[in-house]
Amino acid sequence: MPSKPRLGVVIKRTVPIRLYPLTKYFKNLEKVDALRDVFGDQTEDVLKRTMVEFYSSRWGYMGVNDEDGHILISAHHMKHSPLRTLYLDIIHELFHIRQRMDGRKLFLDEFGYFDSPIEIEAYEFTIKEARRIGMSDREIAEYLEVPWADKKDLAKFIKRLKLKV
Ligand SMILES: [Zn+2]
Repeated sequence: MPSKPRLGVVIKRTVPIRLYPLTKYFKNLEKVDALRDVFGDQTEDVLKRTMVEFYSSRWGYMGVNDEDGHILISAHHMKHSPLRTLYLDIIHELFHIRQRMDGRKLFLDEFGYFDSPIEIEAYEFTIKEARRIGMSDREIAEYLEVPWADKKDLAKFIKRLKLKV
């Protein structure tokens, strides 16, 4: 039996991931009442220890790594999305950090994205903040529109969140 040819290539599979303090890129979040409501006395501590990873892809927005709770952000999103979108996204992700601190699993295999109780709670929280900063229901619905979303699922989701559009 011939043996399999060896690749002869060595790959070091454990690669460094650079993390930066969230507060280096997002300032004054501790002044946001909605976040103070969620984190209370721990607000400053949580913000101070939350780390972010930037990845250089045109695709994607923000997300939380559920292994260690750092936030992933597309550098393209950071650079090109409206300020208001980035603000609401970080509010949303920080709500996930709270859920994680409470021992909850962020990714639930049994639910699709728009049906996940984790996401519904995070969006309800985000929408409250969006209204506070003066966004109309139509603007909020536009904010929710992402290219990868199934149109029907999104319409159902918008209804579920009681947005009047
Ligand atoms: Zn989310």
